[in-house]
Amino acid sequence: MKNKRALLVHPEISRTKYNFAGIIDNEPLELEYIYAMLKDMGWEPYIWDGQVEKQPFRSRLAELSPAVVYICGRTRQEGFMKEYAKAAKESGAETMIGGLHAQRCYSRFFTDYIDVVFTGFDVAPIRDHLRGDPSESISSMCWKKDGKWTVNKAVPAEINDLPRPDRNYFYQHSDRYRYLELLPAAHVRTSYCCPYKCSFCLRNILNCGRYSVRDIADVVDEIQGIECENIYIIDDDFLFGEERLREFIRLIRSKNIRKRFVCYGRADFIAAHPDLMQELKSIGFYYILVGLEAADERYLESYNKRSDMEANVKAVSVLNEAGINIMGMFIVDLDFTGKDFRRIWRWVKRYGLKHAAVSIFTPEMNSTAIRSCRDRLITRDPAHWDYLHVVARPEKLSVRGYYFYYHILLIRLFLRAWRQGIYDFIDYGFFIKSFINNMFRFGG
Ligand code: SF4
Repeated sequence: MKNKRALLVHPEISRTKYNFAGIIDNEPLELEYIYAMLKDMGWEPYIWDGQVEKQPFRSRLAELSPAVVYICGRTRQEGFMKEYAKAAKESGAETMIGGLHAQRCYSRFFTDYIDVVFTGFDVAPIRDHLRGDPSESISSMCWKKDGKWTVNKAVPAEINDLPRPDRNYFYQHSDRYRYLELLPAAHVRTSYCCPYKCSFCLRNILNCGRYSVRDIADVVDEIQGIECENIYIIDDDFLFGEERLREFIRLIRSKNIRKRFVCYGRADFIAAHPDLMQELKSIGFYYILVGLEAADERYLESYNKRSDMEANVKAVSVLNEAGINIMGMFIVDLDFTGKDFRRIWRWVKRYGLKHAAVSIFTPEMNSTAIRSCRDRLITRDPAHWDYLHVVARPEKLSVRGYYFYYHILLIRLFLRAWRQGIYDFIDYGFFIKSFINNMFRFGG
C-alpha cells in the first residue's frame, strides 16, 4: 500500500435540481461505521459525501491520493459510483464498492476499474481484506482471482458487532443533514432487515433475509451520546416487538433523554397499540413513517402486506390523536387508471392524513418483480430507479397518461400541504412548477 489513507465515498443522489436535496439529506452512517473501524486499525480515513461536499470529488481525490477508495450507494447512484471508481483507479487507488445496491446486484460492478465488491452490511470483511487475510477466507466479498471475478458466499451481519459510528463528519455538516424540518437529524440503526415479506420491498431480502436486532440498552446508550436533538431511527420497521419498545421508552425516560424521534412503523402495529403510541409521543416521537401503500384492499393483498385498510384508517387516527405526525407513504401501481390516482387523493382527504408521500411502483433490480415485467421495461438507466420515474410500461395507461395523473396527484398533495402550512422551509413554487412541467414532458 502506498499509504494508509482511505477515502470513503457516498456519491450525490442526482445531478438534476429535481431531487429533494435540501428536504431529506441522510447522514452517511454506513461510512461512519467503516471510518470508526479504520481509525481503530491505524488507518487515516476521510469521508466525501456528494450530498453536502463543495469540493469536487476529483479535486479531493488528487489532494488526498488515498491508497484505498470505498464507494457505496443505491441503485440510482450506480452511474456516479462507477464514475468515481474509475477516477480512483486512474489515480492508483485500490477501488472497493459496497452498500445497498451492491448487496443484490454485485455483478453490475464487475469491471476492470473495480477491485473488490462487498455484499453485506458487515464491516469486518473490509477489515479482513485490508489486513491481508486470504481472499478465499473472507465472506460477503467478490474479488478477482487471476483476473476473473470470484463471488464468496454472503453471510448475514450480526448487528451487535458493529462499532460505534464516528460522527465527526456529521457534526461538521450539521447544517445539511436533515429530515424535513428536523435539522440536523442524526441517524441511528437498531436492526437490519425486516421480519415481514412485502412483495415489492427489497428491504426484507437484504442481510441475506435475516432480521438482526441490537441490544436496546446499547441503542439508548448510543442515542444519549449523540450531540443532536433529532434522532432518525432508520430501521426498516422500528415498531416491532412490544416488549423491546417498552424497554426503549423506559430507558429513555430513566436517562432523562430529551430528543425528537423519527422512525418507520407498520399500520397494523400502530392500530393495535394506541396506548404505546401515546407513550412514544411522551418521550418525543415526532414523525412516524408508515407504508400505507394503497387506498384499496386489493393492492395490500397483492403486495402481501399482511395488513388491511381498516388498519390504515385506524393508524392515521391513532397517530393523529396521539399528536405524532404520520407520514403516509403510498405506491402508485403500474396497473393504475386515473380513478386509482384519484382514490388515493380522496382517501388522504377523507381520513385527515396531513403528510403523504407517493412512490411509483419500481421493480427492484435482480428481484422476482423485475423478472415478471422484463418485457415491459422502458429504461435500463439505473438513475431512473428513484421511485419518481416509470421504469416499466404501465398496464392500462400510456407512459404520458400515467405521468399526467401522477403529477396531478403530487400537485394536489403539495397544494394541500402548503395550505396546511407544513414544510414551510421548502420552495413550493419550484416543486409545483416542476410537477406541471413534468406533466407534459414526462421524466422527472
Ligand atoms: S414491512 Fe416495510 S420494510 Fe418490511 S417488508 Fe414490508 S414494506 Fe418492507
